[in-house]
Amino acid sequence: MIFTTSWDDGRKDDMRLAELLDKYSVKGTFYVSPPSTHEKHALTNEEIKSISDRHEIGAHTMTHPKLTRLEPQEAQREIEESKRWIESITKKPCHSFCYPYGDENPQIRSLVANAGFSGARTVEQLLFSANDPFGSPTTLQVYPFPLRKKFTRWWHPIDICARLRIFAPRMIELRLSPSSCLSWLSLAKALFTYAQKTDQPFFHLWGHSWEIEKYGMWDNLEKFLKFVSENENVEHSTNHELLR
Ligand SMILES: [Zn+2]
Repeated sequence: MIFTTSWDDGRKDDMRLAELLDKYSVKGTFYVSPPSTHEKHALTNEEIKSISDRHEIGAHTMTHPKLTRLEPQEAQREIEESKRWIESITKKPCHSFCYPYGDENPQIRSLVANAGFSGARTVEQLLFSANDPFGSPTTLQVYPFPLRKKFTRWWHPIDICARLRIFAPRMIELRLSPSSCLSWLSLAKALFTYAQKTDQPFFHLWGHSWEIEKYGMWDNLEKFLKFVSENENVEHSTNHELLR
């Protein structure tokens, strides 16, 4: 089985993340936008270049918009310019794209394909294979589970188990044990074990380094990467290598 990871937005904490991946020989694709979109917390061009020596850098548009809300020409410009911007920094072809907020439709998928990318990642979760390289789903996000950690909307306190509620039908379908609901780490391990046992094509872990920091998930992430690295028959690849 192939184990791949991807990390969105291009923030400073990606440097720590890249080192953590290196420690366990895991490969990552870092989807970055230009610094102007998130000022002082953004990776510098030098930092992006240094990550590109060991991992893949993918495009994530120039200004991180919801692409389906833009005029087609504007969406096309966001997609094409981000590819050129990354290639000018890494001096390598940029093959992979990630839709900001997972916002996409068939028209946006064709714009990405026509811009010369080989594939694009969505924010779908709990999946282990892709039907369309331009709708490549993920298996799990590094994000608090099962309980919400921060309340930023008035309804959050009354829907504290939102993610568990959304995941439950699929977890039942996969016949994950009830104990997999106990924590993010137990869910990650249960999904990985399921994927291994049922011989799935891939396990795709993704997230945002700024969320790992915000929600204090570094320790759990490291425990999971260690768990993965101790399993046999795992091939580590970037998102682009996975498509190939
Ligand atoms: Zn993003």
